[in-house]
Amino acid sequence: MGVIVQKYGGTSVANIERIQNVAKRVAKTYDQGNDVVVILSAMAGVTDNLIEMAGQITDRPERREMDVLLATGEQTTAALLAMTLISMKYPAQSLLGYQAEVRTDCSYGNARIQKVGAGRIKELVEDRKIVVVAGFQGIDPAGNITTLGRGGSDTSAVAIAAAINADMCEIYTDVDGVYTTDPNICSKARKMNRITFDEMLEMASLGAKVLQIRSVEFAKKYNVPVHVRSSFSEEEGTMVVNEYTDMERLVVSGITCSKNDARILVKGVPDQPGIAAKVLTPISDAGIVVDIIIQSSPRNGTNDIAFTVPKTEYDRAMEIEQKVAEEIGAKEVQGDKGIAKVSVVGVGMKNHAGVAAKMFSTLAAENINIRMISTSEIHISCVITEKYAELAVRSLHTAFGLDKE
Ligand code: ASP
Ligand code: MG
Repeated sequence: MGVIVQKYGGTSVANIERIQNVAKRVAKTYDQGNDVVVILSAMAGVTDNLIEMAGQITDRPERREMDVLLATGEQTTAALLAMTLISMKYPAQSLLGYQAEVRTDCSYGNARIQKVGAGRIKELVEDRKIVVVAGFQGIDPAGNITTLGRGGSDTSAVAIAAAINADMCEIYTDVDGVYTTDPNICSKARKMNRITFDEMLEMASLGAKVLQIRSVEFAKKYNVPVHVRSSFSEEEGTMVVNEYTDMERLVVSGITCSKNDARILVKGVPDQPGIAAKVLTPISDAGIVVDIIIQSSPRNGTNDIAFTVPKTEYDRAMEIEQKVAEEIGAKEVQGDKGIAKVSVVGVGMKNHAGVAAKMFSTLAAENINIRMISTSEIHISCVITEKYAELAVRSLHTAFGLDKE
């Protein structure tokens, strides 16, 4: 018995039948004597439809009104689930984000949670009510409705779980857990029983799509145990935890692959102090986030600087660099959108030598050329040509002993 937060994603509440299925699960958890708070997403596809409708009116919908619009998706599912539970004779009540006191800053469309009051949730739970909260939405200091960015109801769930000191935050989705790599790419991918917050953060930022990154940051900060599992089966999913017990620790826990970046190469820049700043400052001034940067060693007084930017910012970044190249007298700027970043991730590599060497030799054995490298304490990433991405993931998965039997 305890306080359980359950979050159901869009596919789990995609129609009335599925909402009834969710209600049964909620009721079962409640009947076992737990206090249950449910956080919901909008029905699958609804948020996209709302965005599309706004797009029929204008290219640049007013951002405040956009959030009022998008918040309706979650308002709908919250009411429908509460109604379903009530019709099953369970004492349920829905709350919108503001009623749950989900306080955010005022960045419409991508607001950050500052504090969750949750006073009303706690009172209702004390009365043995099942509380159904609309995820993805909050209220800014001026009283405007805000939304938390795509996938934001994960973050609503974890933040509410932290605020009410829940014993567990269960995230129900359409996959049965977190996998060692994308099962669509590698049929030998395995479901992990456990993964640490840090690994999950790496996996998320490197391309895994199971949880909104911010929800993991929140869970780590407030030490909320998270259980990612499927709403379509009874099987245990993946626990996201602070640390492994040593027994289960592997050197590499997972392989990720992202095709979201593009590479920009500025060739023949003068080898002088201050040049890297000249090349990269205008990019950051434009609000473009650079991921990997490498500089070649100088020959004949010049060298090359290459870096990656999100593909969506490619055109802007190329334009900026063309100007910079002229100003500093660089030889030329080349761009390449056909790249992929494959990474090996694992807290186990902190005190293990040879992970990088093994990664490089595995790629070499497949004749895959490494174009850029970056590392942290718990990941190594290589940028390669996009068309070899799947091959790279599969060979690394095998090489690091992750294949299922
Ligand atoms: N409905 C929102 C979205 O589609 C939030 C969420 O599902 O987490 O992004
Ligand atoms: Mg989601």
